[in-house]
Amino acid sequence: LTRENIPPPAKYGGRHTVTLIPGDGIGPELLSHVREVFRFSCVPVDFEVVHVNSALETEDDINNAITAIRRNGVALKGNIETKHTMSPSVKSRNNLLRTSLDLYANVMHCQSLPGVQTRHKNIDIMIIRENTEGEYSNLEHESVSGVVESLKIITRNNSLRVADYAFRLAREKGRRRVTAVHKANIMKLGDGLFLQCCREVASGYPDITFDSMIVDNTTMQLVSKPQQFDVMVMPNLYGNVVSNVCAGLVGGPGLVPGANYGHVYAVFETATRNTGKSIADKNIANPTAMLLASCMMLDHLKLYDYASLIRNAVLTTMNETRLHTADIGGQGTTSEVVQSIMRIIQSKGQLTSEL
Ligand code: ADP
Ligand code: MG
Repeated sequence: LTRENIPPPAKYGGRHTVTLIPGDGIGPELLSHVREVFRFSCVPVDFEVVHVNSALETEDDINNAITAIRRNGVALKGNIETKHTMSPSVKSRNNLLRTSLDLYANVMHCQSLPGVQTRHKNIDIMIIRENTEGEYSNLEHESVSGVVESLKIITRNNSLRVADYAFRLAREKGRRRVTAVHKANIMKLGDGLFLQCCREVASGYPDITFDSMIVDNTTMQLVSKPQQFDVMVMPNLYGNVVSNVCAGLVGGPGLVPGANYGHVYAVFETATRNTGKSIADKNIANPTAMLLASCMMLDHLKLYDYASLIRNAVLTTMNETRLHTADIGGQGTTSEVVQSIMRIIQSKGQLTSEL
């Protein structure tokens, strides 16, 4: 149950191949900046680019992308748009990718960033979200006209493994407390099972405090006193809502990276998975979240020195208020931010030791 996710070994010459899915909206431009920064930093990663056309009703494109990830083991992606106007039988490509690859744990680290003005300070929350079932099970039907049933699936196996992931991560990161978020007072069986599984797993981690909180109270507590939270674990839809609240608390969707881990594969993206269609191709999107996602990917590949070189340059740039993009109150452009990041990387000198 608790096998670590192990990154694929580097090929001859020490280089890794990573699947790159540009996606829609701001995905392609943000990922082209990642490639530029990687090239500039001499990161030993080659990208295999796979395009997924979200306008097609067939699943051929996404299946090709999934096959490429099975081959390479690791991917970095932009969000693929899911048009609400398409037939209900068309599943979200993003969701299909996560379930096909069994990426059961979504991980987001929400931390107050230096230089970014926010109402609350000193936030440091890790959110672990069940990523394969719950309300995202694609089981909806209109049983009789005017009556829709939408099934939420909670299983013992998937709840245990995501809870275990959360506790293992908490221990590894030296965290003290894990809070399970639920609505077991209403969904006594479904959320009740999730909560019970968290409790069972918690008993194997006596060094970490376990508690639980109902999801409605959680969102209120988050916007009034977010510093009280440490590690949080929850079912899929609550995870979606809570991660967006938390991203908002530290400055918005342009800042926070996210990762999807399974036992075999790992896929990295921005934490709140926005398409950003309205700001695409205007050179105004904040590149921070995607660049930090690429650093999480480098950590996964155990290219720690490259990850911290780029991460430090990104965070140093955040301190320069004059370079802030519009989403965090500035007038800087995407490319100005990226130029600054590359200048800082250059000033540190290139890495050669890691191969
Ligand atoms: P979704 O794809 O979930 O519908 P949107 O693409 O509408 O979400 O994004 C929600 C909001 O967040 C929009 O106002 C969008 O402009 C903003 N946003 C998302 N990503 C970024 C980013 N990287 N930089 C700046 N703003 C962003
Ligand atoms: Mg939108």
